This record gives sequence, C-alpha cells and structure tokens, in this order.
Amino acid sequence: MGVNFVISRPKTENIMMTNRTFTMIKPDAVANGHIGAILDMINAAGFRIVAMKLTQLSRHDAGQFYAVHSERPFFGELVEYMTSGPIVAAILEKDNAVADFRTLIGATNPAEAAEGTIRKRFATSIAANAVHGSDSDENAALEGAFHFSGREQFNY
Ligand code: UDP
Ligand code: MG
Repeated sequence: MGVNFVISRPKTENIMMTNRTFTMIKPDAVANGHIGAILDMINAAGFRIVAMKLTQLSRHDAGQFYAVHSERPFFGELVEYMTSGPIVAAILEKDNAVADFRTLIGATNPAEAAEGTIRKRFATSIAANAVHGSDSDENAALEGAFHFSGREQFNY
C-alpha cells in the first residue's frame, strides 16, 4: 500500500504465436466418416487441441475465409464445396505448429501428397482434399479468431 511497484511485462498480445495453427476437417472427410481417424493422426503427431467444434460455413463465411482466393478460377467451386456440409474447425498447438501441420497434411493436390499424410489417405480430389491447414502464423491467428472467441480456447 502506498508503494508504486511496477513490474515490466512483455506485451504478449503483440507477440505472434509460433506454436498454434488452425485446421478444418472439410465436408468430404466429415461426410465419409473420417473425423476420428484424422483426429487420431493429429494427436499421434503431437498436436494438442486448443479449441474444436462441428459447424457449417455459410456462403458469406466461406467467401470471407477464402477471400485471398477470390480471383482464382476455382473460387466458386471452393465456396460451393466448403458450404456443402458440416466441418470440424480446430485450433492446434505444438512447437512449430504451422510448418509441422502442413507436413502432416501433405500437398494440396492429393496426387502429389506424400505417403502417410492426411491428404494422401483421405482426400478425394484437389478441391475435396480432406483438411485445411494455415499457411503462416499470422493466418493461423486470423483464422482461429474467425472461428473461436477467446473463451473457447483452452490451455491445459
Ligand atoms: N483448391 C481447388 N483447386 C485448386 C487449388 C485449390 O479447389 O486448383 C482448393 C482446395 O480445397 C485447397 C483450397 O482451395 O485446399 C485452398 O487452396 P490453397 O492453394 O491455399 O491450398 P492449401 O493451402 O489448402 O493446401
Ligand atoms: Mg492455403
């Protein structure tokens, strides 16, 4: 009391997290009954689930989420596909999460995905490629915040 003792803290809200990524199990994989097998592979690779839900994207949601691809020829098909059924959205945690998760899912085109990757096992086409994985720490943070409030994200 009466003592002004100020502890200097790092501004953690400004530090980009390098240990989180964002994923979606896409409509084809959910419809084909692969949620459990894909989550098994994610757990086996050492990722911890920070937030997760079964949800469905509206056309507006999908258009916003994939806005970066809005000029690409496949954009209309991508929005159709991503809104066609429920998805599982999740935030995952692990050291080097973004890069390690991209390795785990494999190439965008399942024909080019390495053996043992999620897309090699479960993707049915370049569009219906089973899972999404963020491509940078910045996008991981944006995409996670697009789907989850702070109260829905857990550290344990
Ligand atoms: N996509 C597609 N046709 C293409 C390229 C991509 O339908 O020629 C879809 C596919 O579902 C992919 C998504 O658009 O996952 C986003 O494309 P991106 O290049 O970001 O691939 P990703 O980062 O998902 O590997
Ligand atoms: Mg991408």
